[in-house]
Amino acid sequence: MGATLGKGSRFPWEVALIWIVSAIGSVLLRDQGHAVMLLWLPSAVAVCALYRAKRGERLPVIAALLVANLIFNFWYGLTPLALLGYTVANIVEPLLAVAIAHRVIGKRKLESLRLRDTVFLFAGIVFASFSAAIIALPFGPHRDWVQFVWWGFSTSLGTAVGAPILFYLMDWITRRRAGKKRDVGPLLIWFGISMLTMFALSWFVLGFDLVPLAPVVMSALVLIVARYGQIGASVSIFMFGVAGTLRSVGGETPVAYLQFPPFEAGIALQLLMMLMMATSLPLAALLLDNDRLAMRLKARNARMRENLLMLNMAEEVGRIGRWHYNPRTGEQDWSRQMYLINGLDPTLGRDPGDLTSMLPDGGAELFGLLAHHSKDRARYSFEYRVCPPQADERILRMYATNEFNEAGDLTGMFGVVMDVTEHHQRQEALDRERTRAMRLAAEAQYLAHTDPLTGLANRRRTITQLQKCIHRSQEDGRPTALISFDIDHFKRVNDTSGHQMGDDVLVRIADIARAQARASDLIGRIGGEEFVWILPGAGQEETRAAAERLRQAIEQESSQGGLPQVTASVGYTMWREGDDANSLLARVDAALYDAKEAGRNNVQQAA
Ligand code: GH3
Ligand code: MG
Ligand code: MG
Repeated sequence: MGATLGKGSRFPWEVALIWIVSAIGSVLLRDQGHAVMLLWLPSAVAVCALYRAKRGERLPVIAALLVANLIFNFWYGLTPLALLGYTVANIVEPLLAVAIAHRVIGKRKLESLRLRDTVFLFAGIVFASFSAAIIALPFGPHRDWVQFVWWGFSTSLGTAVGAPILFYLMDWITRRRAGKKRDVGPLLIWFGISMLTMFALSWFVLGFDLVPLAPVVMSALVLIVARYGQIGASVSIFMFGVAGTLRSVGGETPVAYLQFPPFEAGIALQLLMMLMMATSLPLAALLLDNDRLAMRLKARNARMRENLLMLNMAEEVGRIGRWHYNPRTGEQDWSRQMYLINGLDPTLGRDPGDLTSMLPDGGAELFGLLAHHSKDRARYSFEYRVCPPQADERILRMYATNEFNEAGDLTGMFGVVMDVTEHHQRQEALDRERTRAMRLAAEAQYLAHTDPLTGLANRRRTITQLQKCIHRSQEDGRPTALISFDIDHFKRVNDTSGHQMGDDVLVRIADIARAQARASDLIGRIGGEEFVWILPGAGQEETRAAAERLRQAIEQESSQGGLPQVTASVGYTMWREGDDANSLLARVDAALYDAKEAGRNNVQQAA
């Protein structure tokens, strides 16, 4: 029947042929061999064919079964009425069984059935079989309960026991055709040995006439189901049925210890087989469920192992430690990298204790921080310090989340920890570098604008400042005054006291002038011993007074501390409309020249 499986055109005729052969074989054994047929295999053939038929094959298969029934029953010599009745019963039975099976199984695979489905399937088969038995009852030769029950049981058993075996065979043949030969050699041999043992055991048990030994078969069945699942159950019960049928050949009773007529004893045996089926099928389904669960768990475990491997790798590369803390028990779980980050040997052991010995302040910091965050629902992070044994202090940053139970109690804290010591060190070095660079830049700027000897503004800075003041005066019309002063006979100081003393005098004059100036003023050294004093906003009279004050201060204070006394000639002028820095400087220079001409140590206003 499997030879042309799936090739629609021949499939129905193969079904018909196999059905007829199995039906003829069965009745020959029954009528010629005077045996009690315990299972009616043609039922299984019909159910399998209908169940496996593709959509377009269903009607041809039903037609083929109809033709097969008519041919077989005609050959058997039934009256036309009985022929009709039996045929209807034989067609109704697989149709009902398959309809129920489709409802129960749907689009799922037979292997994925659960306990509940198996129970429904079995009940459906029994229901379909006894429905057919009712239809056939009026047309039978005896029309008694024995005929009715025998029909119901033998077709139920034929389907329930035979169909799984046929499905298995069909799949096996399909796989072989597709070239998918699986190496099942040893498995098949052990299965065969088990089934032959089952047959031998059944043969012996059924022939023993002192005590019923059925429980022995039941125990063997349970073992076989545990080992081979549903197909084991089906073949075992089939073996039992074959043993019983063969024992009854020649009109013997199939069960030696039952003192009934053979047919009634056969029904008792069928009942036992129904019970065997009813107990082994759920058991097989449960075991299968268990296997499936175990397989799913195995797959999930494998996935978890892979994930863990990836996680460990990521931790290793990213140098991130993983940590779990149970605040109730105080237990901690550390990943390998966590040990390394904390400067500990990962092989030390699982429980690193409460860390207090490693933390610089005895643990108060970390556990204080954790306690502080113990009610946080969102992720939090903080830094803390550890002092690993024989190593420098490290700064660690922890990112953590809390886990709460339904009552809202804290049940766990999960964290990842990173060593941020280097980051901090780099940051500190960067900060230091930045401060140094800023200081250097400020120094450079100071040097570029400052006279190194006196600390006054140099020529460039002085002129820039003067231009600014002129600009402001041009805008708001407020005055800008400029004083220029030059030390009298300075050459003589150099000549008599030396160049170094001359420098000291310059510094002294700068200090004296600085003391005279306001905060908004600027004093610059624009030549060897020539200075200017910019007085923004100062009026003419105010400027003249300032110049005079300066002249007097130099005269009186220059000799303090053992320096030679010097005087200075002073000129001053006011900014006028149209003046730029050059014209202003030239005019104040002229005033200074006037002061020199006037005998030195005096103040002159520019013309
Ligand atoms: P007067 O201004 O009264 O006309 O006479 P003076 O001797 O001061 O003449 P002048 O202003 O022309 O001379 C400038 C002298 O100042 C020339 C130089 O020897 C001296 N001098 C210039 N710069 C420095 C300096 O940085 N240090 C010292 N020690 N002397 C300087
Ligand atoms: Mg001079
Ligand atoms: Mg001079």
